[in-house]
Amino acid sequence: MAPDTGRDPRFDILFEPVRIGPKVARNRFIQVPHCNGGGYRDPSAAAEMRRVKAEGGWAVVFTEQVEIHHSSEITPFIELRLWDDRDIPALARMAQAIHEGGALAGIELAYSGINGPNLYSREVPRAVSPGPILTFTPDPVQARAMDLSDIADLRRWFRNAFLRAQRAGFDVVCLYGAHGFGIFQHFLSRRTNRRSDAYGGSLPNRARFLREVIEEGREATKGEVAISVRLSLEEAGEGGFSNAELRELVALYPELPDLWDFAHGTWEDCSAPSRFAPEGAQEALVRGLKALTPRPVVGVGRFTSPDAMARQVRAGILDFVGAARPSIADPFLPRKIAEGRFDDIRECIGCNICISGDLTQSPSRCTQNPAFMEEWRKGWHPERLRPRGESRSVLVVGSGPAGLEAARALGARGYEVALAEAGRDLGGRVARERRLPGLGAWGRVADWRTGQIAKMANVAVYRDSRLSAEDVLAFGAEHVCLATGALWRRDAVARFHLDPVPTDPAMPVFTPDDVMDGRLPAPGPVVLYDDDHYYMGSVLAELLAARGCRVAFVTPAQRPADWAWNTLEQGRIQRRLLELGAALHLSRAPVAVEAGAVRIACTFTGREQRLEAAAVVMVTSRTGEDALARELAARRDDWARAGLRSVRLIGDALAPAPIAWATYAGRAYAEALDATDPGDALPFRREIAALAPPGWQHPRAMPAAADAATSAAPTGRRRARPAGAPRPARPAPP
Ligand code: ADP
Ligand code: SF4
Repeated sequence: MAPDTGRDPRFDILFEPVRIGPKVARNRFIQVPHCNGGGYRDPSAAAEMRRVKAEGGWAVVFTEQVEIHHSSEITPFIELRLWDDRDIPALARMAQAIHEGGALAGIELAYSGINGPNLYSREVPRAVSPGPILTFTPDPVQARAMDLSDIADLRRWFRNAFLRAQRAGFDVVCLYGAHGFGIFQHFLSRRTNRRSDAYGGSLPNRARFLREVIEEGREATKGEVAISVRLSLEEAGEGGFSNAELRELVALYPELPDLWDFAHGTWEDCSAPSRFAPEGAQEALVRGLKALTPRPVVGVGRFTSPDAMARQVRAGILDFVGAARPSIADPFLPRKIAEGRFDDIRECIGCNICISGDLTQSPSRCTQNPAFMEEWRKGWHPERLRPRGESRSVLVVGSGPAGLEAARALGARGYEVALAEAGRDLGGRVARERRLPGLGAWGRVADWRTGQIAKMANVAVYRDSRLSAEDVLAFGAEHVCLATGALWRRDAVARFHLDPVPTDPAMPVFTPDDVMDGRLPAPGPVVLYDDDHYYMGSVLAELLAARGCRVAFVTPAQRPADWAWNTLEQGRIQRRLLELGAALHLSRAPVAVEAGAVRIACTFTGREQRLEAAAVVMVTSRTGEDALARELAARRDDWARAGLRSVRLIGDALAPAPIAWATYAGRAYAEALDATDPGDALPFRREIAALAPPGWQHPRAMPAAADAATSAAPTGRRRARPAGAPRPARPAPP
């Protein structure tokens, strides 16, 4: 880490080294395990992402969950694997990358038990007690109970995993028993542990497996690897591993691990979005635990404020500040605090778009940090950009997340940048959406970028400047980036309706833009039609309900805010809508908007129903504002005279999408300027699974000759060996 110049002494406490068993953490910042949607499919991308975190000053950088054995895996979700020795190189690359950044490398070992449907391995899932698989998807699969010999096997597999983790170079092994996902929680919780043998019943019995695995892991690694345990602070529901029981456990075995890592209850609790939970939301649950153990304690809470972090340490609540999302939004968070660069901290907005990567099995995005998971694929760094190329000047039109990020990144590259915004406020959609219920923290997208731009002498900002094509040509910039945004449609066209719904002009119809501009339906019955399926429909329902509207929430989906399942918000949104008294009309879409009513129909049966309404709010789809781009294209012949070399439309103006797509578009524009056009070549790096040597047969496969002899009709798959011919040498397994 760079010398701590400029550090505010209030935060010295955050930079004290802390011992974790045989290792010493250089400060109190731990990047706790988090998924990234890349995992075993994109090992180098994941390794580089972790390296950048280490460079950013975190003392310990953990992997995501690492499956220790093929008999428990969570396909379709893509995490890491340590199924056999062949998985070691990918993990070793990650450990090495973390070490290069100066951090301790941590690995989170997981056996998913009742949480793993084994869709890939096809093994019968093994759990502490039998029952249907408990995961995000209701797979019609049940797990069988482990008997004592299975438990002995599992202990051995954990021991092997400890040894493999040590061979891969990891300093800290974390045992995953949180969020309802890890076998250690399944043993501890009476919800999932219904055993009557030595592993069930009393708390010491339920903790037996955890104790055994820790003792055997410590012995196997000769005490050279630090061991942490990640447990939920509270499991809700009857028989759940409660906060009180957790306290009992820590009091009973205060010195069991080298580090206690406390996560909130479920993943939904632990990664609660800012719309539903404030920073440090779990403080009451973690307070007092530290007093029960001499071992250090780490906890999370979407911490982005150095004051909140230092207070928790000073108050004796935590020894380490744990972070997943804040470390994604700003991998350099510790370093910026150390250097007193508080304004430069890119605060997580708590939108959970990063989590949607895991749940859609795609490399995770971050709204605030568009370089996340592009560090290796595209060579993007969250803090550094290449110096500018041959061009000098760029005019960016529109200051939404796309335009702001483009201007910031171009400014950081050293271009002369002019940013023109039609309105007074910078931020585009973010400046407006941040005023909606629960979305205040999203304003950080604009705040951080406007703050960064304000420090750049080479970026000029022009407010109240709606530019025409003539203005753009007269400006004289070499390149023009149009980030002019999008407007919500009024005619119900989106996914379900591809043509406008017949609408009586007597019915007032509002869009989210109207509402954000302060044009709202009067109190009374309102039909809100949501064919967008993300946050906007429910946020507006909340706003309307607060205003005294009786909201009928109509959606063709089978649940409201269906896509928000990917951001772990869907359940909370549905609960909130119900608590607001909104009437949910699911699998329904409007057939006609009449004066005083909306006729809706069931998407399955077509059965119609009439909903009385004084107004309609359409949350459907958006249309890109590309008029300026079209005008400029029509004046192509004038470009050379104006010194204009390129015009590009980006962000929502090109194709509307969530905010993360817009910040990414801004960064991509800035990265591409003056770069060699890859043409038809792939514009990012990827890894492809190595093919097994041809001809390799599974040891238990039917021999080739017998195959031929018993097969009446040769398939042509394998050629029969002539009698007496020598059997070919079997290639080594891959
Ligand atoms: P994105 O998400 O792609 O960044 P936004 O809708 O958030 O898009 O932002 C677009 C911004 O562009 C808005 O603030 C809007 O006022 C501004 N804008 C649109 N047209 C013009 C124009 N012709 N001149 C200047 N600013 C414009
Ligand atoms: Fe935070 Fe959103 Fe980035 Fe996730 S995607 S780290 S929640 S800003």
